[in-house]
Amino acid sequence: MTTATLEQAAPAAATTPGADEFNPHQAGQQLMKDWYADLALARERGQHVANVFVMGNAIEILRTFDFQLVFPEINSLQTGVRKVSQEYLRESEDYGYSPDVCSYVKADVGLILREQQHPAGTIPKADIAITSNMCSTFIKWGEIWERMLGMPTFTLDLPGQRAGNWQVRRGDAQHMADAHWVEAQFRDLIARCEQITGRRFDIDRLAQVQDRVNRMVAHWNNVMALNRVCPAPYNAMLDGLTYIGIMNVYRGTEAGVQYMRRLEEQLRARVARGEGRVAQERFRLLFSGTPCYVSMRRLVELFETWGGVFAYSDYLTFAAGGMDAGEMVYDTSRPLESLAEITALAAQRGLSNQFFAHERLAQQIRDYDVDGIVFHGIKSCRFVSSGMADTRNYLTQRLNMPSLYIESDLIDPRYWSDAQIKNRVDAFFESLQQRGGAAPAARAHAAAAASAAPAAAANTAAASVAAAITQEGRP
Ligand code: SF4
Repeated sequence: MTTATLEQAAPAAATTPGADEFNPHQAGQQLMKDWYADLALARERGQHVANVFVMGNAIEILRTFDFQLVFPEINSLQTGVRKVSQEYLRESEDYGYSPDVCSYVKADVGLILREQQHPAGTIPKADIAITSNMCSTFIKWGEIWERMLGMPTFTLDLPGQRAGNWQVRRGDAQHMADAHWVEAQFRDLIARCEQITGRRFDIDRLAQVQDRVNRMVAHWNNVMALNRVCPAPYNAMLDGLTYIGIMNVYRGTEAGVQYMRRLEEQLRARVARGEGRVAQERFRLLFSGTPCYVSMRRLVELFETWGGVFAYSDYLTFAAGGMDAGEMVYDTSRPLESLAEITALAAQRGLSNQFFAHERLAQQIRDYDVDGIVFHGIKSCRFVSSGMADTRNYLTQRLNMPSLYIESDLIDPRYWSDAQIKNRVDAFFESLQQRGGAAPAARAHAAAAASAAPAAAANTAAASVAAAITQEGRP
């Protein structure tokens, strides 16, 4: 293999919705069930197992060695989705962990205390854990595995953004220095994988995995760009969470490519039919922060009853490891060097969210043409929440962007206060209405979408924008 395979943008699926229409939610749930079933059988199959985080994880190398991948963050959030997280959290608190510790970590400690019994099945103990500095908690979490499970860890040191308005450009001296630093660590990791598996590293297999990642990311970019259309075809903080789960768990697999391709087809068809996630889209919103998995459906309902849709969330960027930009394409003719170069760039996007979120949010506010931004502070995730007050201040003062700040937790239901959050959401929408009224704002979005579309012959403004979305995912 000498060159990267660029995936063609998926066409719209048949425009008449029917029983055989691809259902991204059901298909996503099935893929997640399959993944858990595979995990439970990994040892029987003689597979090696690795713990990885969703950011900064070297999955491409691990897949080259056929590691079965455990995502402890996803295990923890799944306890929230399945409404049993509190049991796991209480067990780890009884064991001695403070309420202030990241609730993902505590749910995982609860899992260890229960001998790896998860509501989705038995989670195998890994042969190695890959941690990184993408969140400092990752490193401490790895230490817990070392202590409680005797699991060896390998920590990647990934260079991030060093200052405001500071950006590495692909191929410049700083980027190449960063990439060499990362590549040397990857070579060490490969040697560790060879030791664990007893197999030689196969660089052609790495190129194959990268090719599949390229194809997934191409569709993913198009999926995200489709939500710039008014009405938005999906809710970034409900539907989007299913999509991002598949992006992470099936990254670099053919099943992942096919899911993303069919998802794009299905969303293009919805856009062509002019179907939005909410029947009457009145407000377009941006969600910043991590979700509250125990109450996400309820939270989204509070916004959708006002006709508000989350057109975009920065969670879809950093929880995909920063792989949502047009330049994130592996050059499969130089697999390892390219892996290091892209990882250095993606890590910069992922890590910058902690201190420099305002720069990218300002751009995304324009890209998705939003009326307001919702910050969700997480009690136990200081990594994502610590810079929110400053970011909010910046966006209010510089861009006059209305915003709402609410607080709960990732998976700890004790921090969800329904009446209080509902009051704040209602007050937010009342103030948005006072700024100009909902219906005129929605009409303005439609006009903006129409003027952004070069294909004037298309039937509707929405269809025009969808047709104009290019392979790079930009209208
Ligand atoms: S502190 Fe936040 S980013 Fe870090 S592991 Fe916990 S949830 Fe993830």
